[in-house]
Amino acid sequence: MEKEWLYGKTLTELTEVVLSLNAKPFVAKQLADWLYKKEITDIASMSNLSASFREKLSQNYQVGVFSYLEFQESKDGTKKYLFPTEGGNFIESAYIPDDDRATLCVSSQAGCRMGCKFCMTGRQNFQENLKTGEILNQIRQIDERQKLTNVVYMGMGEPLDNVDNALKSIEILTASWGYAWSPSRITLSSIGVLKGLKRYLEESKAHLTISLHSAFPEKRLELMPCENANPIEEIVAEIRNYDFAHQRRVSFGYIMFKGVNDSIEDLEKITKLLQGIHCRINLINFHKIPDCNLNASDKKRVVQFRDTLEARGFIATIRSSRGEDIDAACGLLSTKSQIEVKN
Ligand code: SF4
Repeated sequence: MEKEWLYGKTLTELTEVVLSLNAKPFVAKQLADWLYKKEITDIASMSNLSASFREKLSQNYQVGVFSYLEFQESKDGTKKYLFPTEGGNFIESAYIPDDDRATLCVSSQAGCRMGCKFCMTGRQNFQENLKTGEILNQIRQIDERQKLTNVVYMGMGEPLDNVDNALKSIEILTASWGYAWSPSRITLSSIGVLKGLKRYLEESKAHLTISLHSAFPEKRLELMPCENANPIEEIVAEIRNYDFAHQRRVSFGYIMFKGVNDSIEDLEKITKLLQGIHCRINLINFHKIPDCNLNASDKKRVVQFRDTLEARGFIATIRSSRGEDIDAACGLLSTKSQIEVKN
């Protein structure tokens, strides 16, 4: 039987492990130190723990990290990593350097059950929730680890559909006994799963991005079936209950599709929906994916959208496309790997 991972356990969970082995609670802090500060790869290296405790610990547990399988690198420096999961699936993480920032886009699930029309990962259907350790392992294992300034939960999967593990990974990233990052270095991107959203807003201080893509419910539903269970108007109403004017930021992602969501009526509806929220609107160029009849809006239209939204008091930006020469659209690389394994 596969031994349980220690990497990815919170201090509370490590304390449970330690107590179950009849050791003192302070040993949990020592374990956290080995896992998240010294980043050892085996229990035998935990030299300040007694040999008999390490022996007992090793019977049912392992540290549990693993390295990536391969990567693709773009001319612009974007690097896409492919990781295996313990469950036999594949996930991707994208490293995106940009002036003084270096961001890693991490996955939270293998596949996804949300089925967004414009997304390759959605076509894989749901395979599994990543364990907390598998989410953090992506950050730990990339070659550029020491250069990282930010992490976004925007890779494969819907993080609020795996909210327990997403929140635990953020706890480990930000806790003083963990990686001690500022929450301002972390952004979680979601379609707005309502049940998870409330918990995320209450239990973490990290930033939030909501995938909007249309302010018209019926049009959003065509692009994102999740609109049925998670109506955009309820998502926005929930967000209005929290303070995003100070340290914490809320953004709305808006992929612009030609002739679908880029009209003047769409602009009016966005303005009405988000009026009064201190937010940023990220207009995103669509990365074309195979067998999809959606197309990217013209550059001129995207600029017109940005300028109008700014004139109406929003912070609006255009997210430039990165890694166009590699399989940069989320889910392409892992889909290829799945096909190769099946063949
Ligand atoms: Fe899932 Fe995000 Fe893709 Fe939608 S866009 S199917 S939520 S991974």
